[in-house]
Amino acid sequence: MLTLKPLPANTKPSFLNSLTPFRPKTQTLTKPFKPHSNLAIQSVLQWNRKPELAGQTPRVVVITSGKGGVGKTTTTANVGLSLARLGFSVVSIDADVGLRNLDLLLGLENRVNYTLVEVMNGDCRLDQALVRDKRWSNFELLCISKPRSKLPLGFGGKALVWLVESLKSRQEGCPDFILIDCPAGIDAGFITAITSANEAVLVTTPDITSLRDADRVVGLLECDGIRDIKMIVNRVRTDMIKGEDMMSVLDVQEMLGLALLGVIPEDTEVIRSTNRGYPLVLNKPPTLAGLAFEQAAWRLVEQDSMKAVMVEEEPKKRGFFSFFGV
Ligand code: ADP
Ligand code: MG
Repeated sequence: MLTLKPLPANTKPSFLNSLTPFRPKTQTLTKPFKPHSNLAIQSVLQWNRKPELAGQTPRVVVITSGKGGVGKTTTTANVGLSLARLGFSVVSIDADVGLRNLDLLLGLENRVNYTLVEVMNGDCRLDQALVRDKRWSNFELLCISKPRSKLPLGFGGKALVWLVESLKSRQEGCPDFILIDCPAGIDAGFITAITSANEAVLVTTPDITSLRDADRVVGLLECDGIRDIKMIVNRVRTDMIKGEDMMSVLDVQEMLGLALLGVIPEDTEVIRSTNRGYPLVLNKPPTLAGLAFEQAAWRLVEQDSMKAVMVEEEPKKRGFFSFFGV
């Protein structure tokens, strides 16, 4: 399991001084950051290697929740772009029929000319419906249908299975990740979205309504044969947890019994970036929520999980970053 503990200042024993210096496994992917006084942020930024992709490609991951408005689309956009920034090729599918908004979050709304429905009708080719991101060419968006439209009769999970097979055998090569932004609810749209997936990321907020829906969704995913389910706890407020006005991440984990992929704090920057169509993870300097999404993407690649710790235990020493296991 990855830990985010910062290395002590001098970790190298003296007898090793004569040996060759340590080199990271791969080259640094990002520009070096300025040192920050906060130890926790330093420890986050010392991940200067490329994560190793676990599992077979394409990894087809559905981002789901049950309840609407908990952050599925925000997660798909930010985790997807983080994966692209780490060098993986990503196809992101907006499976929210009639109410799509992933294109808006990514600032790509003007570039969507065709959708999967038109591809299936034979009105265009698949590559015409795939919209390449302006900033990261290894990130592509595919919308399932036009806004406010309904799915044609007979369009269901099989269309997404066909899509995954077509992406596997396309000329440009098979994508590393196919992320499916699932619609809210557990009706036909949900079933369509999960059919082709082999793993799931469940997004929940630490409130009882969201948790109840999440638990129901876990049952449905398992019925469908999706056993690899990890969760992201979004919109967490440590001040409210300390005041016992919000459930802690530990409580959420105990209730759902799922591996924890990430904990995203409530952050006004999320709303600002949603409105600007500029995903949070691209912000400079990085924000807390942006860093948390990047770490979640990292764990997704390596099929890793994190440990939640109780903030109530040592609030002064641990502070907010205790969520990240620091
Ligand atoms: P869903 O796709 O599950 O319906 P969205 O991703 O569209 O949810 O998010 C719903 C709203 O919540 C958006 O306005 C978004 O900006 C906001 N939001 C999501 N995550 C956070 C967060 N961590 N902090 C603040 N606002 C958030
Ligand atoms: Mg959404």
